[in-house]
Amino acid sequence: MKKLIVGNWKMNPQSWDEARDLAGSVKRTMSRVKKTQVVLCPPFVYISPLSGKVGGGLFLGAQDANPLALGSYTGEVSYSQLYQFGVSFVIVGHSERRKMGETDELINKKIKSVISGGMKAIVCVGESTRDHNGEYFGFVKNQIILALKDISKKSIDQIILAYEPIWAIGASASMSPRDLHEMSIFIRKVLRDLYGVFADDVRILYGGSADRVNADSLVKDGNVSGLLIGRESLKSKDFVEIIKLVDAI
Ligand code: PEP
Repeated sequence: MKKLIVGNWKMNPQSWDEARDLAGSVKRTMSRVKKTQVVLCPPFVYISPLSGKVGGGLFLGAQDANPLALGSYTGEVSYSQLYQFGVSFVIVGHSERRKMGETDELINKKIKSVISGGMKAIVCVGESTRDHNGEYFGFVKNQIILALKDISKKSIDQIILAYEPIWAIGASASMSPRDLHEMSIFIRKVLRDLYGVFADDVRILYGGSADRVNADSLVKDGNVSGLLIGRESLKSKDFVEIIKLVDAI
């Protein structure tokens, strides 16, 4: 299975010129990238103009989507509208959206819509703090179970699980590859208990202060299939270097 690097631009960059240049530099790199898929998740307004610039291992993703197809929901964009503009991945349940009030139930609904629309859901889970008793394992397990409620074995290859410990997002350092390894084994076990061998189709990503210095060891020693990257995805040189490093693993 190919590795995956996801760039979550959040509400950046400020201008279309910057967005175009950023996507352009990633696109140019893709001709030398063989084993890794890259997903750019820009703000909604940049999706349409970027839709002609993807392909060759580079994909467009959305940072969120309304689970309904259409209707009177001011300010919302539906998954089926995004699909028409070449969006093939949707981030669901990012901690910044959970903080805005998104519930496990809504997240589950969104994932089902993304799947039925033929796209892949990048499902974010992760604890906000770590305790000495390891209760965060139970917390992450519960988030996974609720997110994937009633999602069948035949759809599970449309799920990507992004483990993003909230305390490591936007922080000064990532978690250690050793701790990540432990968590990735745990998540794999949770998925196997739910889906048996089908669970092996799910790619597990890590997100939280990944950069060009730690990317290689997070993926290699952390035992994950790739990274979800916030800040560093806005620095074209660094992001491209991360892609190359991960592709070389
Ligand atoms: C994120 O917000 O999903 C994220 C991983 O951000 P950063 O890489 O900036 O920590």
